[in-house]
Amino acid sequence: MRGKRLVYLDNAATTQKPQQMIDAIARYYTHENANIHRGVHHLSENATEQYEAARARIAGFVGAGSEREVVFVRGATEGINLVAAGIRRRIGRGDEILITAMEHHSNIVPWQMLCEETGATLRVAPIDDDGALRMEEFDRLLTNRTKMVAVTHVSNALGTINPVAEIVRAAHSRNALVLIDGAQAVPHLRVNLKALDCDFYVLSAHKLFGPTGVGVLYGKESVLAELPPYQGGGDMIRSVTFERTTYNDLPYKFEAGTPNIAGGIGFGAALEYLECMNWDAIAEHEESVLRYAESALAAIDGIRLIGTAAAKTGVVSFVLDHVHPHDIGTVLDQEGVAIRTGHHCAQPVMERFGVPATARASFAFYNDHSDVDALVSGVRRVQEVFG
Ligand code: PMP
Repeated sequence: MRGKRLVYLDNAATTQKPQQMIDAIARYYTHENANIHRGVHHLSENATEQYEAARARIAGFVGAGSEREVVFVRGATEGINLVAAGIRRRIGRGDEILITAMEHHSNIVPWQMLCEETGATLRVAPIDDDGALRMEEFDRLLTNRTKMVAVTHVSNALGTINPVAEIVRAAHSRNALVLIDGAQAVPHLRVNLKALDCDFYVLSAHKLFGPTGVGVLYGKESVLAELPPYQGGGDMIRSVTFERTTYNDLPYKFEAGTPNIAGGIGFGAALEYLECMNWDAIAEHEESVLRYAESALAAIDGIRLIGTAAAKTGVVSFVLDHVHPHDIGTVLDQEGVAIRTGHHCAQPVMERFGVPATARASFAFYNDHSDVDALVSGVRRVQEVFG
């Protein structure tokens, strides 16, 4: 990259892809292309089998109770919007939706829209100066009025890991539904959603070494069964007459229209690749890279780390005295180091820390200490350039 070794540290935006997943998509379009669920010819049956095998693989990967709990969507964003639309009829004036101050815009705006439509109130649990959720405040804001708790598992701007098991237990004790935004968690942490007992969990394939344009809404079968369809169209119906339409079984009730077939198959191939990895070793390696990055960056004069919670994964956000984060990103790019600068779709987090933006390095298992060395020497170069 620009004559230097590429150091890709923008994994929270999207990860790089294993060859197996690229090959699976190329193979599907080259040799196996057909629409699914409807055909009796071989190509269609084969495509259906592969698509449904990917769903089964996802169910296994996240520890879902069955494939019926795995709904294919466009990504985490669509999963959250589907749930917000689905609970609309149950929400009214006096009800509350509880989120946290570290949410991505995709886990804020759909709830704001829901509140606007229904007269419900959005409550926001605050975070402390390290970027950790203030659990005593969360507990105070969680009341019998709370109908939905929507919390990120891992913050994309800060790297904070939230105590989701505790949050699920607390929410259920108030009979509230719980949605966990797992977009930034699943690339780093293994989850077992049945054990976690959350009602909904969303993720995006492209942040988990899979393709863009596909993701998953996990929903507990009993909860999904009670939710109305999100969109109407082909595939989501059992029978249609002008008088009355009946809906398909789970999960197809939520999958109107021709889906992203290649994306689903590609995602399955990415998970097949991930299943071969030693996740304990990955966790240890990633922890070591993250802590190395934090201590090396903290040693630089004039730097401020944003997000220093004890439980963290994958992300180091920082600002430098007298240098705008965009300038940090631009100089690092000249050094072949790809990071992200801006508000990271988490403007309330920026406001909480009193900064307009941060520079964010985010890691995947394929990053190592030499990538951190390149980042650190790049940041020193920024300081030279800007005096
Ligand atoms: N939640 C979090 C925590 C994220 O980091 C992101 C992506 N940056 C999203 C949700 C939205 O994911 P997508 O754009 O893939 O729908």
